[in-house]
Amino acid sequence: MAADKSELLLIGPLRPVLASGFANFAVHSLAMVANRDARLSSLGHVRAMAVSAPGEPVDDRLFARLPRLEIISSFGVGYDHIDAAAAAKRGIVVTHTPGVLTEEVADTAIGLLLCTVRELPQAERYLRAGKWRESNYPLSPATLRNRSVGLVGMGRIGLAIARRLESFGVPVVYHTRTQRPELAYRHYPRLIDMACAVDTLIVIVPGGAETRNMIDASVLEALGPDGILINVARGSVVDEPALIAALKARKIMAAGLDVFVNEPEVPEELLTMENVVLLPHLGSASVFTREKMDQLLVNNILAWAAGKPPLTPVPETPWRSWR
Ligand code: NDP
Repeated sequence: MAADKSELLLIGPLRPVLASGFANFAVHSLAMVANRDARLSSLGHVRAMAVSAPGEPVDDRLFARLPRLEIISSFGVGYDHIDAAAAAKRGIVVTHTPGVLTEEVADTAIGLLLCTVRELPQAERYLRAGKWRESNYPLSPATLRNRSVGLVGMGRIGLAIARRLESFGVPVVYHTRTQRPELAYRHYPRLIDMACAVDTLIVIVPGGAETRNMIDASVLEALGPDGILINVARGSVVDEPALIAALKARKIMAAGLDVFVNEPEVPEELLTMENVVLLPHLGSASVFTREKMDQLLVNNILAWAAGKPPLTPVPETPWRSWR
């Protein structure tokens, strides 16, 4: 590794896989630094950055402080917290960790779907409260057996969810901007049309300006009173106040949410509703998968340091952009 490539700015925690992967680097951490501004001023020469905290904003103001920056290796497949367009303009390549978390997140989506449809967390709370002695938990009004699912997003994770649902015998259709002709699932160019045609939506698109509030009051209305919404994408994709209103008015039946607009804050109204299942953004959160994500974050930096193309650049910043 060239000597001037041996320094790394780290935003987020130095987990064990990162500590051993970056053993030959001088790692400058922005965590636990009281005067972040002063620390940044001393790091203008740094050429590589790792962002190990999901969601930590990385914007053009930060890039302006780091004029020699060439690569940002980010943890997670979603990178809506990183201004990739601004990075592209400055010739900085941004990498993420796609693929290694696909199956884990699809498992989580299916788990959340089953919990929401069959009220499994509510039933467990019932048992723990000692109520089973008094009477059986009521039959769940919903079942997967007569449902059809509309996937909002049919990328890596969407397809892994669809494959699982297929094995459950649940019909699947999808909405994306571009049809995937190689797939047999019906494609809806318009989300609202798909929401009218199904009773269950699973949202798995990227966050960011393009998808902000795409699940709005009209989509929820179209989904209807038997409707169930599962969001494993980003909180920003769902108009949260509209969702709360729809749940309260029983315009839809239930929701299962892994992500929220203002994490880790969750609206009080959702916390007190019985027809929602809430998870603390744990789509990919197993030791197994998180270690694979950390390793890919490391490998992207190591490839760059060895003068090779990073493994998984985001589409906005292909490797050639700064060479
Ligand atoms: P992909 O890039 O493989 O798939 C994204 C899909 O979304 C594509 O089908 C794309 O199709 C579609 N899409 C993008 N923009 C729009 C739009 N404006 N309207 C309709 N469809 C759109 O990503 P992954 O499947 O790997 O990951 C998807 C997202 O899941 C991540 O970006 C992340 O935000 C979220 N995620 C959440 C996790 C959690 O812990 N809950 C964990 C991991 C990921 P097209 O371009 O044709 O529109």
